[in-house]
Amino acid sequence: DLPDLPELVGADLRVPLVTGGWVRAANLDLAASAPALRAVADHVAELLPLHASVHRGAGYASQVCTAVVERGRDAVAAFVGAREDDVVVWTRNTTDALNLLAACVPGPVLRLDLEHHATLLAWRSGRVLQTAPTVEQTLDGLARALVEERFALVAVTGASNVTGEVPPLRRIVELAHAAGARVVVDAAQLAPHRRVDLAATGADYLALSGHKLYAPYGAGALVGRRDWLDAAEPYLAGGGAVTAVGAVDATGDTPATWAPAPHRHEAGTPNVLGVAALARACRVLDGVVDTIAPAHERALLARLGEGLATVAGVRPLRIWPDAADRVAVVSFTVDGVAPGLVAAYLSAEHGIAVRDGKFCAHPLVDRAAGAGGAVRASFGLAGTTEDVDRLVGALRELVERGPRWDYAVVDGRWAP
Ligand code: PMP
Repeated sequence: DLPDLPELVGADLRVPLVTGGWVRAANLDLAASAPALRAVADHVAELLPLHASVHRGAGYASQVCTAVVERGRDAVAAFVGAREDDVVVWTRNTTDALNLLAACVPGPVLRLDLEHHATLLAWRSGRVLQTAPTVEQTLDGLARALVEERFALVAVTGASNVTGEVPPLRRIVELAHAAGARVVVDAAQLAPHRRVDLAATGADYLALSGHKLYAPYGAGALVGRRDWLDAAEPYLAGGGAVTAVGAVDATGDTPATWAPAPHRHEAGTPNVLGVAALARACRVLDGVVDTIAPAHERALLARLGEGLATVAGVRPLRIWPDAADRVAVVSFTVDGVAPGLVAAYLSAEHGIAVRDGKFCAHPLVDRAAGAGGAVRASFGLAGTTEDVDRLVGALRELVERGPRWDYAVVDGRWAP
C-alpha cells in the first residue's frame, strides 16, 4: 500500500549475479548517494544546450544560466524554510559547506562524537562531547558543556548517517541559543527525508548535498545567517567574489573590495547544471517531503525492523533507545560474519547494494559495533517492500546456509 512517489532514473537497472543470470538491482544505499529524479534529469538535458557564461554575458543563454544560478537559491531557501535574510551559498557538497562555515565562525565550536567525519574534521579544535546512552542524558551533557565554556557554534547532525536517528533539533537550538551559541545542522541525511525548517527550528545554518537529494554529484549548499558570512575572508578568492580590484602595489598586494555573501565565497564559474539540478530536486521534494516520502519510508522501515528481528544473529545498531524519530537508514551486524562479506554476498548473489564499514563516522561505529564495522541499508524515494523482503530473505539464507560462492579478501575488500 505504498504511495506513488516521483520517479527516479535507473530504477530498472539490472545487474549480474555471480551465481549466473541478471537481476533487478535493489539499491539500498541511498544514504551514500541517491539516483536523480526523472524531473531533474529532464531539466538538466533541457538546459545543456543553453550553454554560456554566468554573470558575465549579455547573450540569451548567458541570461538563462545566470537566472538558473540566482533563482535556484530561492528553491533551496524555500525547501529548507530559510528566513528572509538568510543566504544560500552554492558549494560542492555538505563537506564543502561545513568547511566554508568553519572558515567563517568567529569562535570555538562544540560537536558530538556521533557526527560524520565532515563535521568531526571541518573543525579539529574545540570540544567533542561524548554521546550519552539516552537523548535526555545527552542533552544534559550538552547543557553542562555550554555552561562550562563559551562556544560560538554547536554543530549537530540532522539525522545520523549510521542509525538514521534524529536528534531533537529544536531543543538543541534552545540550549545553544540560551548560551549565546549558534547551531549548524549537517542536513546531508535529514534533508532527503524530512523538511529541515530553519525558521521553525531556529537553527542558524544548514549544509546539504545535491547527490543525496536526488540530483547528480557536485553541488551542495550552505544556508544561513548573513553576518558571519559577510564578515569572513572569502572562502575561494577570485573573479566574481569582488566588486572592485585596485592596482597591484610594489609589495604585490592586490587591494580587493569583496562582494557580500553569497558571491563573496563563490569565485569562479559556478556548477550551473549542478545547481540547476539541486534546485529542481528541491522543488520536487517540496511537494512530497512532508507527506508521502515519510509515509513510504516508515512503512519500509517497520517492515525491515520486523523482518530483521526474525533473523538470528542480526543486530541493528542504535545510539539512543529514546530517539523520537529516525529516517530510513539502518545499520546492523551479523554474528560471526564480517560486514564486508555480508555486503559482498548481498551484491554478488542477490543484486542488493548496501554499504559496509564505518560510514565516515568512525568514533560512533567503533563504539556501537566494535572495530569490525557494520552493514548499512538505506531507503528513500527508491525502495519497495519487495526490496526489503529480498534483503531479509538473503540475510536469512546467509545465516542459515552460508554463501553459495567463495569469497576472499582482495585489496582489503571481500570479493567473490
Ligand atoms: N554528513 C553526513 C551525515 C553524511 O552522511 C555525509 C555523506 N556520507 C556527509 C556529511 C558528507 O556529504 P558529502 O560527501 O556529500 O560532502
